[in-house]
Amino acid sequence: MAILISGASIAGLSAAQRFAALGAEVTVVERAPSLRRHGAPIDVRGDALDVAARMGIRDALVAHETGAAQRTAFTHLVDAEGVRVGTLPTELPQLSSDDLELFREDLIDILYGSVDPKVTFVFEDSIQELTDTGAAVQVRFASGRTGSYELLIGADGIHSTTRRLLFGPERRYRRHLGVYYGILSFPDELGADGETYVYSEPGRSALISDYARWTGGGFTFLSPEIPHDYHDVEQQRQIVLDAYSEVRGWKIPEMLEALKNSGDFYFDSASQIHMDGWSRGRVVLLGDSAFAPSFFSGQGTPLAMIGADILAAEWASCEGDLEKAFGRYEEAMRPLVSVAQDGVPEARDRVVPASWEAIEERNRQWPPKLD
Ligand SMILES: Cc1cc2nc3c(=O)[nH]c(=O)nc-3n(C[C@H](O)[C@H](O)[C@H](O)COP(=O)(O)OP(=O)(O)OC[C@H]3O[C@@H](n4cnc5c(N)ncnc54)[C@H](O)[C@@H]3O)c2cc1C
Repeated sequence: MAILISGASIAGLSAAQRFAALGAEVTVVERAPSLRRHGAPIDVRGDALDVAARMGIRDALVAHETGAAQRTAFTHLVDAEGVRVGTLPTELPQLSSDDLELFREDLIDILYGSVDPKVTFVFEDSIQELTDTGAAVQVRFASGRTGSYELLIGADGIHSTTRRLLFGPERRYRRHLGVYYGILSFPDELGADGETYVYSEPGRSALISDYARWTGGGFTFLSPEIPHDYHDVEQQRQIVLDAYSEVRGWKIPEMLEALKNSGDFYFDSASQIHMDGWSRGRVVLLGDSAFAPSFFSGQGTPLAMIGADILAAEWASCEGDLEKAFGRYEEAMRPLVSVAQDGVPEARDRVVPASWEAIEERNRQWPPKLD
C-alpha cells in the first residue's frame, strides 16, 4: 500500500510513524526545505501520552521534558512598569493535567527519529494537482513529479493545500477567532526569574517565557482578518510591528527590536477548522488541516498525535475498506475535537482583553499570587 502524507510536522510525522509501523510504504512531502522545528514549547498530554508509548517514544519525551510544567500552569500579569498585577492560569480547565511539556524542536526530532528509515521524505515540494480515480489518487507535484497512491493523508496544517484542492477554499472551513499571534525567541536578558510574564494594553498582549535553555514568547493582538501571504515572513513581521506601533510599556520596545531581527518568527491567526467530514474517496485530512482547535487550546499537538494513531489503527483493521476506516476515525476523534475547540473564546478574552476596563477586571479576578 503506497501512502502519501502531505506535511512533515506533528500530524505528518506521527502518521508516517504509525502507518510505516503497520507495514505501509510511506512517502512524506513537505513544502519547507527541512523540518520546521521552531516554536513555543508544547504539551503532550492525556491520551497522546499513550500514543507516545505505542510509538516507543514516551521515555524520550520524559527525558526531554522542559521541567517547567508546574511553573507554566501560571503566567504573571504585569503593568507598564513590570509590577505584578495578576496571575493567570494558562491551561483550559477541561484539559488533562497529565502532561509533558517539551520544546517543539525536541518533539519534532523525537518523532522524526522514530519514523522507520524506509519512509521517503521529499522536501521543498508540494502537491499541486490531485485526481482520485477511485482506484488510486494521482498526484502532480509543484516540481513536476507525478505519483500514484492508494491513500493520501493531508497533514499540511491550518492552511492545507490538500483541503483546498479537494474540499474547496479555506474560507469555508477556517473560523478566525479575531486574534493574531507571532512567536519568536528573545535575547536571554529579556527573560526573568525562570517565569512567564504577560503585559496587556487594549487588544494587545505580549508574553515572555524564561527557560534555562530558551527565552521566547511573542505578541498577540485583536484584529479582523488581515489578508496576507502565509509564506511571506517579512510581511507578517510588518503586520506585528504595525499592530504594536503605539505600545510602549514594559519591555515592548526591546521585544519589537528582537522581532525585527528574528530568524525564527512564526505567525498565524488564531483560527479553528470546522468541517462536516474529513475525508473523500481515498483522501483524508489529519491534524490542524481537519480540526485545528487553535493556538489558545493547547490541544493541537495532542490531537494530531491521537488522530494519527487512530487513523492508522482503523486503516489496518478495516482491510482496504477506507470508507469504514475513515468513518471510525472521525467517530473516535469528534468528541475529543469538540472538547478542545469549546472554551477557546473564553481563554482568548482572558489573554487579550479588548479594553482597559476589561484588563482591570481580569486582573481583579486573577490577583497576583504571592511567592
Ligand atoms: C514552524 C511552526 C511553528 C509552530 N509554532 C507553534 C506555536 O508556537 N504555538 C502553537 O500553538 N502552535 C504552533 N504551531 C502549530 C502546531 O504545530 C499545530 O497546531 C499542531 O501541532 C498540529 O500540527 P499539524 O502537523 O497538524 O500542523 P502544522 O504543525 O501546522 O504543520 C503543517 C506542516 O505542513 C507543511 N505544509 C504546509 N503546506 C504544505 C504543502 N502544500 N505541501 C507540503 N507541506 C506543507 C508545513 O510546512 C508544516 O510542516 C507551529 C507550526 C509550525 C509549522
